[in-house]
Amino acid sequence: MTKFMRWWLVAKVLYFREKCIGCGVCVGTAPEQWEMSFTDGKSVLKNAELRKDVFVLVIPSFASAVNKQAAEACPVKIIQVLE
Ligand code: SF4
Repeated sequence: MTKFMRWWLVAKVLYFREKCIGCGVCVGTAPEQWEMSFTDGKSVLKNAELRKDVFVLVIPSFASAVNKQAAEACPVKIIQVLE
C-alpha cells in the first residue's frame, strides 16, 4: 500500500471534551469509538490522543459516516470529523 492510498483510507475525529455535557448521544450513535466515563460523566473518544485541548483519533474512512452522525447529533457541537 502506498502512502497516497493510506492517506485516502483515514479520517480524523476531533473531540473538544471540556464542553461535553454528558448527554450520551455520541455513544448511542457510534459505540465503537465512544463510551461514557464513570469518573466525570462525560463521553470518552476511545484510544484518542490528547493534543493541547482536543482529543484526536485517526479512524478508517469507512468509520467516518457514523462519527459524522455523532458530530451532527451532538447538542453542543464539540465533535468534528476531518477527511
Ligand atoms: S453528544 Fe456531545 S455533549 Fe453529548 S456526550 Fe457526546 S460529546 Fe458529550
